Amino acid sequence: MREKVKRVVFENPSSEQAIVYMQKHNAALAVAVGHTPRCYVLTFGCQQNVADSEKLAGIAVAMGYEITERPDEADLILVNTCAIREHAEKRALSIVGQFKHLKEKKRELIIGVCGCMVVQKHRCDQLKKSYPYVDFVLAPSALHRLPEQIVLRLKGKRRLFECEDEFAIAEQVPMVRDGHYRAYVSIMYGCNNFCSYCIVPYVRGRERSRNPEDVIGEVRDLVKRGYKDITLLGQNVNSYGKGEEHGVDFAELLARLDAIEGDFVLRLMTSHPKDATRRLIDVMAEGKHIAHHFHLPLQSGNDRVLMAMNRHYDRETYLSILEYMRKKIPDIAVTTDIIVAFPGEDDNAFEDTLSMLRIGKFDMIYSFIYSPRKGTPAAEMENKVPKEVAAARMERLLSVQEGVAERISQKLVGMDYRVLCDGPSKTDEGMLSGRNGQNKIIFWPDDGTKAGEWADIHVDRATPYALYGKRIGFEEEKKFIIKKSEED
Ligand code: SAM
Ligand code: SF4
Repeated sequence: MREKVKRVVFENPSSEQAIVYMQKHNAALAVAVGHTPRCYVLTFGCQQNVADSEKLAGIAVAMGYEITERPDEADLILVNTCAIREHAEKRALSIVGQFKHLKEKKRELIIGVCGCMVVQKHRCDQLKKSYPYVDFVLAPSALHRLPEQIVLRLKGKRRLFECEDEFAIAEQVPMVRDGHYRAYVSIMYGCNNFCSYCIVPYVRGRERSRNPEDVIGEVRDLVKRGYKDITLLGQNVNSYGKGEEHGVDFAELLARLDAIEGDFVLRLMTSHPKDATRRLIDVMAEGKHIAHHFHLPLQSGNDRVLMAMNRHYDRETYLSILEYMRKKIPDIAVTTDIIVAFPGEDDNAFEDTLSMLRIGKFDMIYSFIYSPRKGTPAAEMENKVPKEVAAARMERLLSVQEGVAERISQKLVGMDYRVLCDGPSKTDEGMLSGRNGQNKIIFWPDDGTKAGEWADIHVDRATPYALYGKRIGFEEEKKFIIKKSEED
């Protein structure tokens, strides 16, 4: 029997009490410093962390803070960390280190470190010992307790470093969303898969899913408020509902969400191949809102390595999923994750991964050099791959993938897509950028389309990872407008 999931609503007596306390505290602070107290939230890692940070910001606003982009003017700093690779942890620790001088200048500044990194005991101990200006840590499953944590810190003398997985789901947590037309909706938390290299099950705890009516209510509300691109989030979205009493699985949830009326696209992130069922693919194929994009992490193309990774599928099974998906949804874009230089990956195993890139024809890959994570089985494995070999393999992987992506992209020249505009391109002056249902980035000359508006684009040029085109009908529309204004 699994542990019972703690389901809480954010507006409960203890969080309300803490919020009222903080509102009074911040009102007094505002008088003392001459402005509304400010909160700075810094996010590392995946979309799940971005969504968590939107909640941290929402809770901060409920406590009477306003959100700032500048740490040097903040009264509360929250660092939302990632533990997936050592590099992410080092970056977070280095930035937390840089906040020391801010605390020296402003003694009442509160610094909290949240997210996956702090759940690991050695990192929590390190923060407590070597970062004396950090006031508290908060586990990802306990974000809703932020007000209570700050009140405890303000009232008591103690810094707070207890950090256990609460196995909780909190509903109705306020959020300050990053955008006004794209939104993330977490549908499940944690992971039960224990891939041998991965820290996630240890830091995000056991799988637990939100109730379907809560998810449907949130998506319906977002659509009503004009959100057009909604991503359903979870470490393994397609194991949604497992072990829950409501009996709704991911395919069923997706079908119910697809039935919501409105002009929007539904995306999902991430899926595990062992749970990518034909029924789910059928629902995607029949859906009217579901994007034709599937992110299906492969990790390795070699069966022996996949077994050592504890992935529960082999090459053949993975390819059969791809085949079914492409038969049912011919224009689907498939992206994947690859880990290079997992312990015991020899030249032959690596060649198998390269061959999977060629056979699998992925639109895009996210590739990582294996990073040992303390406490995971792989960290204890022998036959570690030397750094230079890992770097050389990564370079080859990227070069093979670039060729694959180039061939895929060129085939898309001449296609027409409905694209959700993200506004002016950051790299290409005079151009707009946006994404289509396959999540491809598309650029076109600035025609005044605003971020959050749809545009129909005809693709006339392609590079491996970007498409370029023109608005369909735009020239005609322009002539019409000019002619009309001449007549007026
Ligand atoms: N749940 C997702 C899945 O099963 O694919 C992945 C979530 S994880 C945040 C994203 C990616 O990070 C993984 O797919 C894997 O490629 C990579 N990753 C996880 N642990 C890693 C490690 N120790 N070293 C390198 N890459 C890692
Ligand atoms: Fe990590 Fe595997 Fe769970 Fe993904 S499925 S979060 S890689 S343990």
